[in-house]
Amino acid sequence: MHGKLDIIFRSGVGGISEVKNKRKWKEIIIHHTWKPTGIGKDGKPILTRKYADEINRAHIIDRGWNEMGYHFLINPNGIVQYGDRWLEQHAGAHCVGHNLAGIGISFVGNFDVNYPTIYQMETLYELVAELLYNNFMAYDYEVHYHREFAHKTCPGSQFPDFIKQTLMNT
Ligand SMILES: [Zn+2]
Repeated sequence: MHGKLDIIFRSGVGGISEVKNKRKWKEIIIHHTWKPTGIGKDGKPILTRKYADEINRAHIIDRGWNEMGYHFLINPNGIVQYGDRWLEQHAGAHCVGHNLAGIGISFVGNFDVNYPTIYQMETLYELVAELLYNNFMAYDYEVHYHREFAHKTCPGSQFPDFIKQTLMNT
């Protein structure tokens, strides 16, 4: 099963609860992919593609992991993709020091240059709400950006600081 990524849609994020041995996660760490940018030659977000296969391959080949390091990938069109890492509640491979406790959610995009799409933002809120509703999060969970723990801008210098506050108020 390794490397197989299942797909869920914005209208059905309830699929994330199909997990046998639920963990209580302490953190959510937000990322951007930086590359691929998810932007077409016309300068607009590519809404017809899903990128998990590409990122999955890159993480397996370039980094030697057994699958995509994030738990969830949010495509420019708002579709979430995830695989065994989430379904089997394995630790992530996305943020040094926070992989055991932190769910990794990454946006396809380079938010040093662009902004997330409305579809991606809608999905982020729906996804976090679903994680809460299905009791995946510890009561005192926190949301952080990768840049708080690494010398990176991730999830991009254009990604607003206040978003994480709104994700912790629920
Ligand atoms: Zn990151």
